[in-house]
Amino acid sequence: MNALLLLAMAGGDAHAWEHIGLVWDRDDFPIEWYITDYVEDSLEDPYHHEVIETAYSNWEVDAPCARLNFDNLGVREGYNQGQTTEGINTFAYDDPDDQVGSGTLAVTYTIGTGDVAFTRGGDTYQWYLEGDIIYNDDLGWATTEDIANGQCNNEYSVEAVTTHEIGHQLGMGHSCEQNDDCPDLDHRYAVMYWSTGPCDNYQGQLKDDDIEGINALYGPFCEFEATEDSERFGGAPLEICFELNCSEEYTSITWDFGDGNTSNEESPCHTYEDKGQFTINLAIEGEEEECGTWEYTEREQAFVLVCGEPEPSEGFGGLFTYEGVSGLTYQMINQTDTSVYGCIDQIAWHVFKGEELVQEIQAWSPKIEFAEEGDYRVVLNVGGPGGVSAAELNIEVTEVSEGCVTAPVGAGFASLFIGLGAAVRRRRSV
Ligand SMILES: [Zn+2]
Repeated sequence: MNALLLLAMAGGDAHAWEHIGLVWDRDDFPIEWYITDYVEDSLEDPYHHEVIETAYSNWEVDAPCARLNFDNLGVREGYNQGQTTEGINTFAYDDPDDQVGSGTLAVTYTIGTGDVAFTRGGDTYQWYLEGDIIYNDDLGWATTEDIANGQCNNEYSVEAVTTHEIGHQLGMGHSCEQNDDCPDLDHRYAVMYWSTGPCDNYQGQLKDDDIEGINALYGPFCEFEATEDSERFGGAPLEICFELNCSEEYTSITWDFGDGNTSNEESPCHTYEDKGQFTINLAIEGEEEECGTWEYTEREQAFVLVCGEPEPSEGFGGLFTYEGVSGLTYQMINQTDTSVYGCIDQIAWHVFKGEELVQEIQAWSPKIEFAEEGDYRVVLNVGGPGGVSAAELNIEVTEVSEGCVTAPVGAGFASLFIGLGAAVRRRRSV
């Protein structure tokens, strides 16, 4: 395998941007920030303000689809940093409480309100309340200009570190963590890579990975749900209609219903003919004056569950078989397919001797204790949203000696009885 192919493959499953589960409410934009009046001596004012504004604008300019917006409120007196909940974002170059451990460049203290903002891709996000940023005052810091001019002596780029910490303040996690292999260079040189080297400023510029990550939180998005009168669970054929809600106008839309069918309608209806668990994939493209072309995909796993008529699991000839346990006790073995969750919600076993009903049992795979030796007929009814199926086996019951198990008989000859549905009692048994 050549190196290029390896890189491409590894890039496919390396983890891309992560989120910390916090997001700012767009209604609260611009995001306001202060700088504390504690100032690290090695950096001269007003560079502190300038570099923070530059770092914010790195996000604003490089990720226009996120439509970020910030406001510098100036200097705030006193040190009231980290793990407070006053809802004010402050930057401190000094670290009076020594909160930032050695080996750490800076820390962002993130605090959420606890209220759920939205759930997307299976993850729940809550609204952001506050993100304070503290720099390690034991380190040497260099300006972007010093680094560009080669006047950097093992110091760290304030701009790169600030841009990274602001990423956290916006809700981003790391593109790669400390112990990750991180073969994808777009992740390795991302602003949100876990660390930066001394005199390196390349992490001050957003990479595709950072832009995708921030757009996922603040960029154009679409959501869908089933219309109020549509059922997402039922027997085949099942028709479901979809409702779409997009934050922006879009130019193209593709629905993939998960059963091989697609649609380009805005709010399509689709009929599922066969049983299965179906994942919906929605792909949207749009164009906006400021942000240019954008794409958004939304994927909902097992969004639609369609039940067929109950049938044997793959590889089995009948709905059930049995084996002798001991004495006159026989174990019934239910082989009904349960691959689609919730599709069997009714079950009944009827035991006949001649024409006489001698036992009625409701359990998935019961043990049946016969009263005496002889010929019996056991009928299984299983049902659910997809319909009702029945099977019967004749059992010649003889005393089973301990440890001796009779071979299943007649399993391949289970016959299907339609019309026994009335005998089935509703019972949730799986
Ligand atoms: Zn970080």
